[in-house]
Amino acid sequence: MPRPGWRCPPPPPVPPPAATTPNIGFDLDLTLVDTRRATEAAAARINEVLSVSIDLQDFVSSIGLPLRRQLAKWVPEPRLDDAVSEFRATFLGPGANLIFPTPGAHDALALVRSLGGRAAVITSRLPHIAERMLTACDLTADILFGGLTGLEKTSAMRETRISCYVGDHPLDMVGAQAADVYGIGVLTGFHNETSLRQAGASLVLADLTSFNKKIIDTADNGI
Ligand SMILES: [Mg+2]
Repeated sequence: MPRPGWRCPPPPPVPPPAATTPNIGFDLDLTLVDTRRATEAAAARINEVLSVSIDLQDFVSSIGLPLRRQLAKWVPEPRLDDAVSEFRATFLGPGANLIFPTPGAHDALALVRSLGGRAAVITSRLPHIAERMLTACDLTADILFGGLTGLEKTSAMRETRISCYVGDHPLDMVGAQAADVYGIGVLTGFHNETSLRQAGASLVLADLTSFNKKIIDTADNGI
């Protein structure tokens, strides 16, 4: 029997849980980099070399979808390989001078790193092409997954343990929602706030200049 007034000694202090690493995911085209002019130049070159009639405005507005599938709207199957090769040669050659960072892109990546996180770029572009695009804009990804569109991005989102994913396309938001990741839409592409929210975006920003620590904290808390 414990004496009256006897109390158990206090338990040893429990160390606080390790801080979560706020890895953040980003789409590439029209989210971190503006590829409209380079894409138009590359499509115009295909028209010239292969004597086809790609609608440049339509083609540019489909940035973010798989390249070959988009080219197939105007280029016959037997010439698709040539069209893809021509596109990449122009896009990464003279077109590289026409690729620009979107407003706030540099600061957004710097913010993630300043908080101890890593910036994961998950894109439909093939990795070596994505690397060239980032280099053209003096941007760097800490983690890069390429060749993934929409729901295909889900496994990469889970693997990189990102707390949120920023993208301009409704398919980006569909992927984020499927991965149970906080989806942030940006209006630097061709899609409006309504379409991004309907696809699952929890937040929509005009561009990356609005991306800040408070948003990261909110996403990290799953609110
Ligand atoms: Mg995009």
